[in-house]
This record gives sequence, structure tokens and C-alpha cells, in this order.
Amino acid sequence: MGLLDRAGGQLTARAEDAEILVVNTCSFIDSAKQESVNAILEMARHKRENGGKARRLIVAGCLVERYRDEIRKNIPEVDAVVGTGELESILLAAGLPAAGLATQPQTTPSASPFNILLSRAASAVHQHSHPSEVGPQLEIAGAPRLDSETWVSAAATRSRAEGDARQRQGRFSRAQWTGATAALPEYLYSDETPRILTTPRSSAYIKIAEGCDHPCSFCIIPQLRGKFRSRPLVSIVAEAQRLIAQGVREITLIGQDTTCYGEDLGLRDGLSTLLDALAPLPGLKWLRFLYAYPNKITTRLLETIARHETIAKYLDVPLQHASVSVLKRMKRGGTAEVFLRLIEKARAKVPGIVLRSTFIVGFPGETAEDFNQLCEFVAAAKIDWLGVFGYSDEEGAASFSLDRALKVPKRTIEVRRRRLMKLQQKISAKAKAAWVGREVDVLVEGESDETELLWQGRTALHAPEIDGKVLINDFGPHDALVPGTFYRAQITESHEYDVVARIIE
Ligand code: SF4
Repeated sequence: MGLLDRAGGQLTARAEDAEILVVNTCSFIDSAKQESVNAILEMARHKRENGGKARRLIVAGCLVERYRDEIRKNIPEVDAVVGTGELESILLAAGLPAAGLATQPQTTPSASPFNILLSRAASAVHQHSHPSEVGPQLEIAGAPRLDSETWVSAAATRSRAEGDARQRQGRFSRAQWTGATAALPEYLYSDETPRILTTPRSSAYIKIAEGCDHPCSFCIIPQLRGKFRSRPLVSIVAEAQRLIAQGVREITLIGQDTTCYGEDLGLRDGLSTLLDALAPLPGLKWLRFLYAYPNKITTRLLETIARHETIAKYLDVPLQHASVSVLKRMKRGGTAEVFLRLIEKARAKVPGIVLRSTFIVGFPGETAEDFNQLCEFVAAAKIDWLGVFGYSDEEGAASFSLDRALKVPKRTIEVRRRRLMKLQQKISAKAKAAWVGREVDVLVEGESDETELLWQGRTALHAPEIDGKVLINDFGPHDALVPGTFYRAQITESHEYDVVARIIE
């Protein structure tokens, strides 16, 4: 969107008004693919039937990485496809001049975002003769001070030994995928890549890394997004500073695995280093990261969360299962005991920490006993926010080729999913009841999604979009609330996932 805007395109969210339609797609699991295909078909119909205003239909994103040729062959209305590794070609696809990019200051003549990334990283290091000028915040008690060598090396692109080994074993191969190209995406955006935020003004996501080197047997994301690669630290800090200057107060760091951050750049405990750099930025109120890998949660990472007031006491760690045999077949490793110890440690190191996790039920070979072990684990772990997904059999994932006899019937998967959610509902209701009476900072989002009689917001212990809500039924001293503003509130009631609060300041 940023590239299109900078090249002179005018953005509209209404398909009826658009001359160029862009459908951004997901290809992770069946339901996401279906939703993507439905959206493409809807826009194709729109292009055919809507009085001729829409001239071009572009399909972008992961579905293109998976079915590039098939999309064009089967949906003739599609004029162009743009994979995740070729973002700049959206301009060509839209018929907009790539020259628009050249109006921005660059140190290389090319308009490619790859060059923007490299030039920006080089220029940022060059512009600031001493790293303390880039981020004086790096000089924090207890945190390692980054020397200029780290800034520079953190701008170089390498790969992780684990990723290289997996590549040799064929983890990233697309050989079996009809209609996909063999080349893996290598793209990374930079702080100079134009961005248009679609989140509310005070909140933004920053992607700190792209791709994944893990071998999870149910997942095709590594084949879709490529090998793990981190953005240079200097680029992330620069982007955060720019977002804060624009009014952003909450930053959520994302990536397929945020806890691997910096390993490819030669940083040790890279995520902790990055958090140390970001947390003290003036104007930032809440900082969090999502998608931690269980065995990558180090003591230093937990201590970093505990040390900074701005870092949300919140840990999102998808565990996927708790039965050893299922975890082994998932190629995830770990056991219920190991996970319980990790949770205990997180709670001891970061008092009041809230945990989020996701689980997959119905993985091939999951027996009633495996499922019971998962339920026992969930009951013991008392995770605050929990998502349960039914296993989706993805062609191209290693688990797809497991013996057909091992596949769990769809009906059983759904029954287990509901049972686990029901169990979690009780755990959550009890935990939320303990929130009543607490005073908290609430970021007000606006009117409630469910009723105009209430407003809604979040505390630092709710990540955007995925967790419960704080419903506001009393504005306290205010006649009206301003969305995107922080207020002091007191929790007055609790429900299964949501709580109710009144504003006090
Ligand atoms: S860590 Fe996440 S993205 Fe990576 S392979 Fe496993 S499930 Fe997929």
C-alpha cells in the first residue's frame, strides 16, 4: 500500500471505486486458502460486471507463492500476480511508474526495495558516527551496550546454520508444488519502505524478521516465506522512532519466530538486545513481541521483559501440544513437564506475566490418551489466553504424507477442539474474576464491536485483535472518550474472556 501510494496511486477500501483491485492472500491452511480464493473470485466478478470501472485485478501474497501459475490459468480475470518476495513489482502490475520511488532519497540508483534496504542500512550506520547517537537508549544498566561493530554487523545479511542444514535436507523445497516457482522469497522491508498503517493510530506492528527455519511437520510456512532472515537492528529502531513520532504508542513485534531474531546477524540473545534498544524510546508506552518458540525463551529474555516498564508483561508462546509422542511427530520437541517448568520460570521471573498459547488438536496419530494429556496440561498450566485449532492437512507439509490410517476424522477433531475450549473457558473465567477491583491503564479503541451502549479497550495484558476485551460502561469524569487514548480505569466485573471497567482518570 505504501509503494502504491508513493507512486501516485490513490487508495480506497471500496472495490466499487477502484480502477485497480488488489487481493492480498494467505495460504497457510485450507480455510485461509478458501477465503483467499473466494475474495479473488468476488473481485473477478466485480471486474466483469461492475460497469467497467475496475480495469486490473492483482493477486498478491502467499497464495501466489504456492499456486502462481494455477491462479493465472484458472482465473483469467487476474492480470498480474505478486509473490511475497517481489513486492516492488506491484507497481508494474498496477501500471504505476516505479520512478515514483526515485523521488525518495537513496544512495543507490535502483528503485528496488532490496536496494532501499541495503542503502538505508548502510546510510543509517554511516550517518551516525557513534551508535549512541542512533540509540542512546542502548546504554542501559544491565543491558549490553551495542558497539558500532554490532550496528554494522547487524546490518549484514547472513543465514542461520540451522536453516542452512534444513535447506540441505530439503525443508524449503517446492519441487512437489505444481504451479509454484522454485525460488524462495528473500525480501525484507526496511524503515525506508513506505508503509501505510491500517491499524488504529496509536498501535502498530513491526515485522522484525521474515521466514522460518523450524521443521514443524504440519507447517508449510518455511516453503512459502523462505529461510529465516532478520531485519537490521538499526532499521527496526529507526522505524519505531518514526512510528512514535507519528503518534504510535504501542508497538507489537512480529515475525514467524521472533525469538530467533538476530541469530543470522551474529547477535546473541538478539531479541533481548532489540527490546533493550526499543523499550526506552521516548513516547513509547507499550512494547510486546508475539510468536516465541518455547526452547528459545532464555533467562535473559525473561529478565528483559521484567526490567522495562514499557514491555508488556505478556508472553505469547505457541506450544501446539503437550503429549510427547504428538510433539515428536510434529517435530517440535518438548514435553508437558518441560513446558510447565518454563511457565513456572516465566511467572517467577516476571511477576504478573500473562501467557498466551495455541494448540493443534487432531494431529495425525493423536489418540484419546494424547488428547487427555493435552487437557491435563492445559488444566495444570492455566494459560491466560489460549487458541485451539483443528489440524488442517496441508499438501506439501510432512504430516500430509503420514499414513492415512493415522489421520483423525474431522468430526473427532471438532469434538476435541470444542472440549478443550470449554475447559479453557472455565480457566479463563476464574482468572478474569481475579482482575475485579484492579486499577489498570486502558487503551481505548472506540465503540464496542457488539453494542453501541459500551465502549471497548485493552490493557497491556491484551494483544491487539487476538485476546479478550475491556468493556467500558462508565466514562467516569469524561463526557466522551477519545479512541487511541490511554485512561486509568478500574475493573468492576468479569466474564469468561472479557472484563468490564469504569474510567477513573
Ligand atoms: S515455528 Fe511456526 S512458522 Fe515455523 S515451521 Fe513451526 S509452525 Fe511453521
